[in-house]
Amino acid sequence: VEIVPLESYENIMNQSMPDSPFPFFLGLNWKLNPNTIKDLEILLTNYVDHHREIAIDNDGIETVVFPPVIYLQQVYAQLGTHPAFHLGAQDLSPHDKGSFTGQVSPASLNDFEVRYSLIGHSELREFKKHSPEDRIARVKASADHQIQPVMCIGHVSTKDKDIHEVDIQILLDDVDRVITATPQQPRFIVAYEPVWAIGSGKPASIEHITEIFSTIHEHVLSTHGQDTVNRLQLVYGGSVNDQNCQELLTIPRLSGFLIGGASLKPLQIANIYKTIISS
Ligand code: PEP
Repeated sequence: VEIVPLESYENIMNQSMPDSPFPFFLGLNWKLNPNTIKDLEILLTNYVDHHREIAIDNDGIETVVFPPVIYLQQVYAQLGTHPAFHLGAQDLSPHDKGSFTGQVSPASLNDFEVRYSLIGHSELREFKKHSPEDRIARVKASADHQIQPVMCIGHVSTKDKDIHEVDIQILLDDVDRVITATPQQPRFIVAYEPVWAIGSGKPASIEHITEIFSTIHEHVLSTHGQDTVNRLQLVYGGSVNDQNCQELLTIPRLSGFLIGGASLKPLQIANIYKTIISS
């Protein structure tokens, strides 16, 4: 793994995609994978191999790996010093320390150079019952520790056309809560992930995502103003892969992907990366 001096990070942060003042966000959510050190080593070696040629000029793309927390140290050791990668946490505690069995403190994440956190991923909303209040407490704790929150929002309707006003209102309420809870944040990353599209092999349609992004954009502009909408970065997640990413990149205001399944296939990620660069 090539080690590049810290100034390179500054260069990455200063580059941007045409539609956004921020680097393109490429979030890789490994979820509960891999589950052995042996498999972790194979995955990391693959990542390093496939990213060797694209790592140095990374063209305004911010690649963030969200590994299982138990492997953070190892991933940091192998990828953390690589200019193409940053580290993220799949969840964090809203508490700094104390009697909170099973939780991970944002202060500990700071020690491993974790710069991003996923907030309220749909699997945590479903399995851990993270409420809007739980999510906002995490957004605040994360921002307080200079860990950029990535707010995951999404509805459970089974098809694009089944989305109702009430679903849209839920999305907008989540966006409003983040902005109100951390008004000083320089950047609001919102990952729109329709629950039915996650892991299904079928992303939402281009028209649907375009409509949702415009609705969020217009809402933030009219409710919070131009300065706030300038700080909003819209990301799509749900069955993104190297075959469909080119078309998804045509969506206005799209400035990132959050990727689950394909993130375990470094070759796919290298292909997606190249597609983003050339689009
Ligand atoms: C996810 O879980 O955030 C996700 C987008 O998964 P997948 O890419 O597998 O649909």
